[in-house]
Amino acid sequence: MHMSSEPARNNTIRILMIEDDAEYVSLIRALLRVMWDTPSTLEHAGTLAQGLELLHSGRFDVVLLDLTLPDCYGFETFTTLRARAGQIPVIVLTGTSDRVLALRAVREGAQDYLVKGQVEGDLLIRSIRYAIERQRADKALRESEERYRCLFNTTHLVMLLVDPHTQEIVDANPAAISFYGYPHEDLIGKTMADLSLPPVQHLTPPHPLHSRHVLANGEAREVEVYTSPILVNDKELLYMIVHDVTERKRVEEELRQRNEALVALNTIARMIGQAHDLNSVLRAILETVLKLTDQDIGWIKRLNNDGAGIEVEPVVCYRYTRSAQERVGPCIERLTAAIARLEEPAVLRDLCGNATCVGIPLQAGGRILGILGLCGSSTGTIGAEELQILTAIGHQAGIAIENDRLAREAAELEVLQEIDRLRSELIANISHELRTPLGLIKVFCTTLLREDIALDPVTQRELLHDIDEETERLERIVDNLLDLSRIEDGRLQLQKQPTNLNPLIEEVVKDMAPEAQPTLHRIICDLPSTPLVAIVDPRRIEQVLRNLISNAIKYSPQGGEIVIGGRGDNTQILVWVRDQGIGIPQEDLERIFERFYRVPNEVTSRVGGAGLGLAVCRGIVEAHGGRIWAESTLHKGSTFYFTLPRGIP
Ligand code: ADP
Repeated sequence: MHMSSEPARNNTIRILMIEDDAEYVSLIRALLRVMWDTPSTLEHAGTLAQGLELLHSGRFDVVLLDLTLPDCYGFETFTTLRARAGQIPVIVLTGTSDRVLALRAVREGAQDYLVKGQVEGDLLIRSIRYAIERQRADKALRESEERYRCLFNTTHLVMLLVDPHTQEIVDANPAAISFYGYPHEDLIGKTMADLSLPPVQHLTPPHPLHSRHVLANGEAREVEVYTSPILVNDKELLYMIVHDVTERKRVEEELRQRNEALVALNTIARMIGQAHDLNSVLRAILETVLKLTDQDIGWIKRLNNDGAGIEVEPVVCYRYTRSAQERVGPCIERLTAAIARLEEPAVLRDLCGNATCVGIPLQAGGRILGILGLCGSSTGTIGAEELQILTAIGHQAGIAIENDRLAREAAELEVLQEIDRLRSELIANISHELRTPLGLIKVFCTTLLREDIALDPVTQRELLHDIDEETERLERIVDNLLDLSRIEDGRLQLQKQPTNLNPLIEEVVKDMAPEAQPTLHRIICDLPSTPLVAIVDPRRIEQVLRNLISNAIKYSPQGGEIVIGGRGDNTQILVWVRDQGIGIPQEDLERIFERFYRVPNEVTSRVGGAGLGLAVCRGIVEAHGGRIWAESTLHKGSTFYFTLPRGIP
């Protein structure tokens, strides 16, 4: 019967048999040849001395050793050979009575023993094969352990072997010794707790444990720990690989902060671009900076360097309470002085109750326009990089202040230009309006004064009448102008009193009837029977009514009905003047109340007017707390409404 074949290994198995019984050697040789398909050679030595000699000269995979030899006997045979055989596995051959001896040899390193006379083919082959395999496995294990140890000792990775049950460090490599700073003997036997480390256990990769390890010198390092189980001398331990990630974390943190700073700068730039009002921009800048630097108190002051001195009150502030003010107050002056002198950020440490004050100049166009101040406990240090970012933010804030100043100047300039334009317009309009009546008066007077023609008394009267009319027109224009200027300056004096509007309206209508007659207008009153009492200056309300009725006549050239109406409720009185005239385009309904505005149409250009009447009406009505407006349909007519506050009837 053949043994199952060896794993594919072409190498011939070389056997050294040390045996003085030549017949027994032949038997073994025959057994091997017949029963083993693995190629093998068997060399024979009759004495231990010969055997040792062969062993020395050749490379054998296994030794079959008889313990009873002519030149050596018993256990000594084994120990002598074992000492010289190195790693070669030895199978001991004994007699039946030597079983105890054989077991002893196995304990001391023999791979197996075979009892002579009981050796069968398969037993022999199995024994040889296992002896070789076991020896190979032992060698591989030894090598791997050596490799591991070598790696453990030479790697720059910090490695610890920890007993998971006791949490004790059982071994530490040189990298660990130099990392933790303890002598090897001090580190071994320490528990995780001794090193203020959390207990370790096996973690499934790739999840490292983030922790903070304290070194012998008290320094704390950020670490990532990878652990894995390992069998050492049949004991399950954990090996820990400790990565010092302090630097990486610092760089990451720095990058995060830098990123935050860039985002902050960007936000500030956007805010400035979006033209908010200056104080809210400065407040937002301050809040962003406080968040960025983790400081407690902050303020922004604007500096007035143009001789007006320094503004004392902060423009915007954060947690700048009275007590904080008292605390940091003395620093502010020193900061301001330092910044004005250095024109760069100033840091005052350990001042005002263990605080650090930082001042950043807010600059634009080479001038310091303000100071951003921060204050926090001295532990919240501000480094050089942060100062750089703060300087950049200071420039942004300076630009915001400068933009605001320029915008104000531009607005002021615009107002001045507008005032100038209006003044020129006013002068042009007034000159134009005055010239017509003045020109007419001049002509009439010249005519009257001519000596070469004799005017009859009727013509003379007519001319004098015309002069009177034009003078009245001049008077009206001048009155309107004076009223407008009083209204605009807020100098319009109202003699308010409870006034019944019904008789007032009727009186005005009666008074103006002659004016309406030549143009065939009918003026009608639409008033309730109950009195409409308002608290007003009656003279001024009469002026408003006269203006509106006069316009209704002027702008209804074809005649028609003019209705003066009035109604009242609990709070106010509404008065209106309705005509059937030329009407007003929708887009001009607001503008007609502006001074000098006249709707450009044929009638307006024909009939005289300075465009002042409605502006005066609006001024008077609004001075009474009322409102005036117009509604109109082109070519059908217009209605002018105004309200007045109600008085007690
Ligand atoms: P003036 O009548 O001197 O031009 P006003 O201030 O009284 O100045 O009126 C401004 C303009 O409003 C007038 O020029 C005219 O174009 C328009 N307007 C005023 N009242 C009426 C009205 N009842 N019907 C049509 N247009 C009117």
